[in-house]
Amino acid sequence: MARRKLIAGNWKMNGSLATLGELDGIRTAALAAPQVDVAVAVPATLIAPAAQLVPGLAIGAEDVHEADSGAHTGCISAGMVKEAGAIFTIVGHSERRGDQHETSHDAFMKSAAAHRHGLAVILCVGELEAERDAGRAERVVQAQIEKSLPDDAHADWLTLAYEPRWAIGTGRTPTMDEIAAMHAIARAKLRQMVGDTALDMRILYGGSVTGTNAAEILALDDVDGALVGGASLTAAKFVPIIEAAA
Ligand code: PGA
Repeated sequence: MARRKLIAGNWKMNGSLATLGELDGIRTAALAAPQVDVAVAVPATLIAPAAQLVPGLAIGAEDVHEADSGAHTGCISAGMVKEAGAIFTIVGHSERRGDQHETSHDAFMKSAAAHRHGLAVILCVGELEAERDAGRAERVVQAQIEKSLPDDAHADWLTLAYEPRWAIGTGRTPTMDEIAAMHAIARAKLRQMVGDTALDMRILYGGSVTGTNAAEILALDDVDGALVGGASLTAAKFVPIIEAAA
């Protein structure tokens, strides 16, 4: 199975009802590029209005709780975001790992919860700058995959995203050789864990992807798309990335 490119936006804690109209332009670009999958993860409060505004565009959540329900004040379950209209969720984003001290085990549990509720998952891994400087980036990413990948992970519902923490929102990216090398390592690790379905699994690159650098990054072996933060907030910035994948 040839891997279709996936361009996924991540609005983080940005956006409002007033800016949802950006999704209209994004959907138009997605329809014009049928060979590319396009998705946007939005804050939980915007999932339902987004899903209603742009039916046909894949709307997702940025996180889910590992439990289905219960005494977890302020948290939101996979079933809840599904009911609101999400068809996927991001799990284990480095901002969750950093700001909320989430571990790879948390990401494992959340991925399983999302899958239980029929959501696709974008599972994020990536090293800190100090870990790369210490020559440990590969081992860190391998260990994160090992601890966070659900046992029954399958290309049908799970996408991996490699996002070096130091490249997120900074305007800095690894070299093309570094991205290609890490994606090959991630692919090998996935293959070791789940066998040949790993060949069909998409591995996205994330971290300061823009309309300017997208084509070069997306042309690399084992790069099957991009997870895009800042440049996904407006159609003007996101559409060129979709076009670069087409
Ligand atoms: P960025 O964020 O594109 O703003 O660097 C990427 C991400 O965090 O998914």
